[in-house]
Amino acid sequence: MVNRNRLIEQFVKMVEISSVSGCEGRFKDYLKEALHQRGLRVVEDRAGEALGGDAGNLLATWPGSTGGSTLLFCAHMDTVQPGIDIKAVVDDTCIKSAGETILGADDKAGIAALLEAIDCIQEQNLPHPDVEMLFTVGEEQGLQGSKFFDYRLLQATMAFVLDGGGAPGDIIIQSPCQNEIEYVAYGKSSHAGINPEDGVNAIHLVSQALAVMPCGRVDEETTCNFGIIAGGTARNIVADVCRVKGESRSLQRSKLDTLTDKLVNTFREEVEKRGGRAEVQVTLLYPELKLDEDQPVVQTAVNAAKRAGLQPVLTGTGGGSDASIINGQGIPCVNLGIGMQQVHTTSEFILIDDLVKNAELVLEIIAQATEPVKR
Ligand SMILES: [Zn+2]
Repeated sequence: MVNRNRLIEQFVKMVEISSVSGCEGRFKDYLKEALHQRGLRVVEDRAGEALGGDAGNLLATWPGSTGGSTLLFCAHMDTVQPGIDIKAVVDDTCIKSAGETILGADDKAGIAALLEAIDCIQEQNLPHPDVEMLFTVGEEQGLQGSKFFDYRLLQATMAFVLDGGGAPGDIIIQSPCQNEIEYVAYGKSSHAGINPEDGVNAIHLVSQALAVMPCGRVDEETTCNFGIIAGGTARNIVADVCRVKGESRSLQRSKLDTLTDKLVNTFREEVEKRGGRAEVQVTLLYPELKLDEDQPVVQTAVNAAKRAGLQPVLTGTGGGSDASIINGQGIPCVNLGIGMQQVHTTSEFILIDDLVKNAELVLEIIAQATEPVKR
């Protein structure tokens, strides 16, 4: 049913429209028009203005021809750099970039699968329930678009993000929650050679604090890291400020909270007992994703994968995605592997067979959710 050549052509056309994060406007216009042409209602939210980009999130709604669960599909419109003037190279089995840029299968392979599924359903006049499609901006900049979106606009009871790094059939049902933690220690400056005893060295304060704070793997579900450190102004001045940027993550919220408290409290105590002042800021970047195998969204994905001739694999990942945000907003959501490979590099590619499988999987998910009864 999937039209392989049409799908390739559609995918190539989309990757060749640049849409680096914050500059999704031209691609957004293209996609809006493509959805309009297929008869979907499309609205753009104000994420562009709010985030300083030139495009908002697109929400497309496709009224069902029959009953069934309302579905949400989601893919992101933005790409990482280098993503300007992408030239796709198509051979018999695979599509890659000409080598100077990324390809942008992350995440236009997901979008291509959705457009192809709409085309197939309309061509064959197949029944489908109400379908919502969310196309986000700024995903690569910390899930910005999906964080901004107003989920009260949705009716969906289950959601499928098409943005997983694994093969088609991989169903991500678990990913961590993560805090960003910014630590700042303030000391007091003085001359390093003349009167060091009048100063309080912030770099030294931080080093003593970090030495007794957890770092790395805490348990099999929980990790933390210090990623950036900066402080001081000159070799011969006792440093009066030192900043550290770090994170904590866990598959369980309670463990994240416990670990974060320990990090923050230890930092404060160690800095303050040596005469410094501590400031710590904690920001939840995204909530955990943790679904049970028997939840309808997981069952739907598993059954659809089998019907599409794929091997369903329930799996987890170490980072957040739009699925983390959607799930955190109360719509059970899996992230589906779409076969994109070597993403975020100029060697990025995707197998044409995987593009086809993605479209088939979307069609089967829609078929699974469709009730034969006419409303
Ligand atoms: Zn992605």
